[in-house]
Amino acid sequence: MSSDVTHDPAVRAFVAEHRSRLVEELSAWLRIPSISADPEHADDVARSADWLAQRLVRAGFPTVEIWPTEGLPAVYAEWPSDDADAPTVVLYGHHDVQPADPIELWETSPFEPLVRATPYGEELVGRGAIDDKGQVYFHVVGLAAHLATTGRTSPAVNLKLVVEGEEESGSAHFAQLLRDHRDRLDCDVVVVSDTGVYGRDAISVCVGMRGMVEVQLEARGPAGDLHSGSFGGAVPNPVTVLARMVARLHDADGHVTLPGFYDRVVPLTDRERELLARLPYDEERWLANAQSTATYGEAGFTTFERIWARPTAEVNGLWGGYTGPGGKTIIPSEAHAKLSFRLVADQDPADVRPAMDRWLELLRAEGTIPAGIEVTAHYEKPGVGPFLTPLDHPALQSVTRAMGRAFGTEVLYTREGGSGPQAALAAVLGAPVVFLGVGLPDDRIHAPNEKADLEFLLAGAEAAAYLWADLAATWER
Ligand SMILES: [Zn+2]
Repeated sequence: MSSDVTHDPAVRAFVAEHRSRLVEELSAWLRIPSISADPEHADDVARSADWLAQRLVRAGFPTVEIWPTEGLPAVYAEWPSDDADAPTVVLYGHHDVQPADPIELWETSPFEPLVRATPYGEELVGRGAIDDKGQVYFHVVGLAAHLATTGRTSPAVNLKLVVEGEEESGSAHFAQLLRDHRDRLDCDVVVVSDTGVYGRDAISVCVGMRGMVEVQLEARGPAGDLHSGSFGGAVPNPVTVLARMVARLHDADGHVTLPGFYDRVVPLTDRERELLARLPYDEERWLANAQSTATYGEAGFTTFERIWARPTAEVNGLWGGYTGPGGKTIIPSEAHAKLSFRLVADQDPADVRPAMDRWLELLRAEGTIPAGIEVTAHYEKPGVGPFLTPLDHPALQSVTRAMGRAFGTEVLYTREGGSGPQAALAAVLGAPVVFLGVGLPDDRIHAPNEKADLEFLLAGAEAAAYLWADLAATWER
């Protein structure tokens, strides 16, 4: 929450004066179709990296480098502060974009950006306008405003920009890139500009993301499929057993039954619950979006708490036996289930495996898994860790004040239910992650007619200008 919601007239004027330049330069960048998922556009992704690198050189960054990966290149830029005890910030964004398909649904050409009037002001339409080139570019304006209005010749923080080129195609080489350059990326805090606010009427900051672990369960019974007339009723059926196991994953209150699963879960504070409850929530609209007729989940928690602050277990698939046309009277020899667990701070993906082992022991002991059925758990990937920046963290307070001043309003908090490359930043760099994002839910990211509200991009630039000064002024080393 913001105690000081007054803006700095000099910063606001600077940003306003740069409105047309922002549109012009950002549009030039948006014309480069840097689609990372399409190998035919690899040269465009490289051109996009070059465009940004040149722009950052002009912005004054003394160090600007293209960082190649085994895939597509990232851009790195560094501008140390003249102040010896300034905090160090890694700023993350990405310069690749989603494909434009389905192209026939665009009202404009996806890579010919266009400004048009809206009931709220003006919007810039084009692929990447908000995800994420617009949110990288507003930092160029924000940094210039910070320097011009403070009279500084270097930023108040040591600034290190990492702008990835593969985010929209899964960030396959991002963790490796961070590890390769780990020494140079040493920092006190990571600022991510690739997200949005809750809504026009609810300006918010994201404070965390969930992690995830996936597991496949195999239940094996008879060595081969059996005739259900000759053997049915006298041997255990692995499909029945696996179905019972899946039914045992949650208790009647919707709690996950893996022993110790909740041991490290950071409970929601009263204050966070109170703030989450103040986000405008329209259940009908939420359900329409979920294509569901009712909500369901862990007892004692609201929908937002369930998807953002509580861990879950979901069955993603369940199969076994004969599923083709007609009938086939067998007792199948095996059954399979794919499960995924969403994790919250401070759960560790590595803890799920032993918890699953204990759960399987428990199910054997109580008879849910009878003699004659062998159950094994398989993990293809190590999983992704969750992260959470506590509300009282000084960097989060700085972001909150910066957003509050730029938007002239109180700032609320959200989290993300999924996970992204931000998890790699938190894990590899071992620093707290805060989000400075100005996207809107109606920005149509990844969809035809993606747009950015110009007022929001300008507010983002303004917030960025405040953020560097605020972080430097309030940081205690
Ligand atoms: Zn993005």
